[in-house]
Amino acid sequence: MILWKEQLEEAVNTLERLEEFINVTDDEREAIKTLNTKWGTTPYFASLMDVDDPNCPIRKQVVPSLKEKKNVYGIEDYLIWKENRDNEEERPDTIARQYHDRVAFTVLDQCGIYCRHCFRKEVVVNHDINLRFDIDEGLGWIREHEEVRDVLVTGGDPLLLSNGKIEYIITSLRAIPHVEMIRIGSRTPIVLPQRINEGLLDVLGGYHEVPIWINTQCNHPKEITEQTARSVYKLLSAGVNVGNQAVLLKGINDDIKTFRELHQKLLATRIRPYYLFYCEPAPGIDHFRTSVEKGSELIRDGLRGHTTGLAQPMYVIATNVGKIPLMPDYYIIDKNDKEYKLKNHRGEYTTLPNIAE
Ligand SMILES: *Cc1c(COP(=O)(O)O)cnc(C)c1O
Ligand code: SF4
Repeated sequence: MILWKEQLEEAVNTLERLEEFINVTDDEREAIKTLNTKWGTTPYFASLMDVDDPNCPIRKQVVPSLKEKKNVYGIEDYLIWKENRDNEEERPDTIARQYHDRVAFTVLDQCGIYCRHCFRKEVVVNHDINLRFDIDEGLGWIREHEEVRDVLVTGGDPLLLSNGKIEYIITSLRAIPHVEMIRIGSRTPIVLPQRINEGLLDVLGGYHEVPIWINTQCNHPKEITEQTARSVYKLLSAGVNVGNQAVLLKGINDDIKTFRELHQKLLATRIRPYYLFYCEPAPGIDHFRTSVEKGSELIRDGLRGHTTGLAQPMYVIATNVGKIPLMPDYYIIDKNDKEYKLKNHRGEYTTLPNIAE
C-alpha cells in the first residue's frame, strides 16, 4: 500500500501521468494543454476513474474541461465578495467571518484533489488571490475574540499538513478557553484515506472537552471505498465525528437514483450527511450548476420519507451573508383557525388541530 506522502508525491497532475489511468479524450487533452490551471489528485483517487467514460462522475471532478473557459454567470473576484474580504472589520487573511460565534480559519492552500467545481479556485487552484497563511496570527485573533466558540479549520485541506503542525493548531485552539469545538474541512477520507494514520489519530483523538468534527466532501457513491469506510471507522473510534458536505453537481449527482444512493451509502459508511451545497457562482464552473430548486426537489422526491431520516442533509446556498437554507416546504398545504392540512412524501393528506397561541 502506498503511504499518504507518496500518494501526494506521485500525484496524477500531468497528461503523461493521467494517461496511465485513463484513455484521455481529445477534448480533455486540449483542456489540459490550453487551460492555465492547477489540477490533479492522488493515484488512489485517480484509480477510481472510469478508463473509457469521460462522463464518469469522478473523472469530471478531476480532469479539466474546455467548458471552464466559458464564464457567463460566475461572479468575478468571487471570494472577495463571498468572504467579505473588503469590508471594514480588520482581520488576518486566515480568518473568514460571516457569523458572530464561529469563523473559518484557512490554514493552507493545498488539496488532495483540485476539484474542477471548487468555488475557492481563486485561492487554492489558480492563485489569483494570495493569502498570507500566518497560523499564529490567526490563533492570536481567535484568542482575542471571546465570542468565537466554534472554529472551522479549512483550506485547501488542513489534513495535508504534517501531524506536528496539526497538533500545534489543535492544541493551541483547545487551550483557548472560549473555543468549545473544532471543525476540520477535509477531503482526505475520500481522496486520501491513507492520511488517517496512527500519528494523526493520536493528534485528533482521545476524550477531550473540545470535540472535533471532520466534515469531508463526497459527491458520488463511487467515491466511497472499503478504505474510506475503514478510515472513517478509525476516526470515530478515536472520538472524532465525521460528516459530509456534498456539492450539488450537474451530471454528477443531480438525479434521484444517484442522489439517494449517495446519501444511503454515506450513512452505511458511518458518515453523517450534513450539508448539500448549491454549486456557488464562482467563475468558470457554470457547467456544474443546476437550478437552485433542483436540490430541494431531489430531497423531496429522493430522500424525505423515501429513506432513513439520518440520511437527510440540509440543503443550503452559501452567500456573502452566510448560508441560506433552501429545504423543500411542501408539507403545510393549508391552515385555518381550526386545523392544519398536511401532505406527506406520497402525496397523502392528513389534518391536525391548530392550537391557538
Ligand atoms: C460555513 C461557514 C461557517 C460554518 O457554518 P455552519 O452553518 O455552522 O456550518 C462559519 N463561517 C464561515 C465563514 C462559513 O463559510
Ligand atoms: S478539496 Fe475543497 S478546497 Fe480543495 S479544490 Fe476541492 S473543493 Fe476546493
